[in-house]
Amino acid sequence: MSSETFKFQAESRELLDLMVHSIYSNKEIFLRELISNASDALDKLRIEAIQFPDFLKESGEAEIVIETDKKVRTLTIRDNGIGMSREEVIENIGTIAKSGTKEFLQKIQDAKKGESADLIGQFGVGFYSVFMIANQVTILTRRAGQTTATKWVSDGKGEFTVSDAEKAAPGTEITLLLKPVDEENGLEDYTEFQTISSIVKRYSDFIGYPIVMTDENEKDKEKAKKTLNSMKPIWAKSETEVKPEEYNEFYKHISHDWNEPLKVIPFKAEGTIEYQSILFIPSRAPFDFYYQGYKSGLQLYVRRVMILEAFEDMLPHYLRFVKGVVESSDLPLNISREMLQHDRVTLQMKKRLGKKVLDTLQELLEKDRENYIKFWGEFGNAVKEGMTVDFENKDKLQELLLFYSTNDAEKQTTLKEYVGRMKPDQKDIYYFAGENRETMTNSPLIEIYKNKGYEVILLTEAVDEIVAGTIMEYSGKKMKSIEKGEADIEKTKDEKKADKELKNTEKEYDELIKYLETELGEYVKQVRLTTRLVSAPSCVVSDEAGMSPHLERFLKRTNMKVPENKRIMELNPAHNIVQKLKARFDADKSDPVISEYAELLLGYSYLGAGAEPPDVVRFNNLLVRVLDDTLK
Ligand code: ADP
Repeated sequence: MSSETFKFQAESRELLDLMVHSIYSNKEIFLRELISNASDALDKLRIEAIQFPDFLKESGEAEIVIETDKKVRTLTIRDNGIGMSREEVIENIGTIAKSGTKEFLQKIQDAKKGESADLIGQFGVGFYSVFMIANQVTILTRRAGQTTATKWVSDGKGEFTVSDAEKAAPGTEITLLLKPVDEENGLEDYTEFQTISSIVKRYSDFIGYPIVMTDENEKDKEKAKKTLNSMKPIWAKSETEVKPEEYNEFYKHISHDWNEPLKVIPFKAEGTIEYQSILFIPSRAPFDFYYQGYKSGLQLYVRRVMILEAFEDMLPHYLRFVKGVVESSDLPLNISREMLQHDRVTLQMKKRLGKKVLDTLQELLEKDRENYIKFWGEFGNAVKEGMTVDFENKDKLQELLLFYSTNDAEKQTTLKEYVGRMKPDQKDIYYFAGENRETMTNSPLIEIYKNKGYEVILLTEAVDEIVAGTIMEYSGKKMKSIEKGEADIEKTKDEKKADKELKNTEKEYDELIKYLETELGEYVKQVRLTTRLVSAPSCVVSDEAGMSPHLERFLKRTNMKVPENKRIMELNPAHNIVQKLKARFDADKSDPVISEYAELLLGYSYLGAGAEPPDVVRFNNLLVRVLDDTLK
């Protein structure tokens, strides 16, 4: 096929534009990205060679070769890895398949300059980073198992040209026509052996294949060809041998994230099953973390050979934000992904590694609260998801939860800290779910707890309520929603007396309550008196098994079928309005004001719980009428 010119996909064009005008100051990382791709290509060849052993014979010893030409100012990186077919080059280099890219680019454009460099780091631009340092890029590549090669050329300005070509062996060769040296703007002389050698050492020392370059300053031709990296697998080294920067660069290589990890977890298991691993907790959630197609999983090696690039079943699914590598000599080389999932050794490793992550998070929480809060902001939802699926680790997971509470408007609390602050007479752990913390803090439902000095956990995310439900009990204390069931709090003598009086009052209110139950029957299943309220005339609550208005609204919004969930309306007989209402009722049972007030009180009660009145239009009309009447 002859030469064809293509336009980059719109998203790619925008990214290239960002790269050409290089918002990223650390330009030398282009080399890390190219070496990382070359190393991936060599891994892929080895994975495919398990099925097609001829691939290895055809390619020879794995290596990554770097060559420069000072006169024409080119830098070439060559690998004898898997290579690409014509279609693959067009697809892989011309488009970005990650979902969410469009939204992400919009975010970069909206961000300020400094922030956008930070965001691009989170995206990890990969190959396109070459356009920070090169005016033109040529890729010559041949797919293993194919005979024809493909040449791809572009200046990164919107188009690329693809043509058929010749190449003696499979693999990829990338030639960069370098921009002029401009040290002020971070462009060094990338034709210099010393420059390249130190960049490779800094970012790519752990790469498992030799990165070879000829040192022109070396007169002895035999000695001039040098391997720049140590190649020692970083996970096999002892922790004291590895510098923090080395761990960080290794993280960037496997995660395609340009930011430093939040936490590095080197872990070696010894005993009946032996394996070595390094796990990483990212400092930011990948931009596509909440999209379908987010690639999770750990790299899996068996006896120095990578057998899977991303094995999801090495950790529980909810820990899918963890990146890393695991090497085991207890697994067979020729094992399929499906067989691995059910393999006894794998299952044990999965359990152990999952626990290791949870223990590390617990340690972070105890020793480095600031970073734990960062983690929680990025991945807290994953821990909450764990609460609903991983019952075996429930005890560990619930220690990791952070909640806002009435104790502090800014700082979140753990359950342990909450229990530590509980009043001596406090029986349960109280929580309240709603949309907005401010509304909740001022809700009539919370007043009695405030008066008693009891702390209430404030849940604002719909999933929180489900999580609270799965906790059930913590440290022997029940989790109790303040808007479900009767307010069951330790009573003082006076309060006990008030309760007794309430029994008598109930008799007096019997008729009014029956009347209100019929009037409001469409919305509530019961009307009753309460001592839970202080300055409010009424409130609505659910029964013990019911849903809070907040959760119900959330489920309705997500189009879920919500079972009919009528609430209980409670009246405060000590309140003026309630007493006056009763007097009016006793005087004239057909007084129309009674049913109007009943509806107004119901709407008011819903608002107090941070929810909308059941019939907003009617509530509004009634309110206006009452306002009008009072001015008469
Ligand atoms: P990423 O590596 O994050 O997927 P890149 O932009 O760096 O993104 O590369 C895009 C794709 O191009 C890679 O996923 C790979 O399929 C292909 N590719 C890049 N470099 C090489 C190479 N040296 N050999 C084979 N394929 C490559």
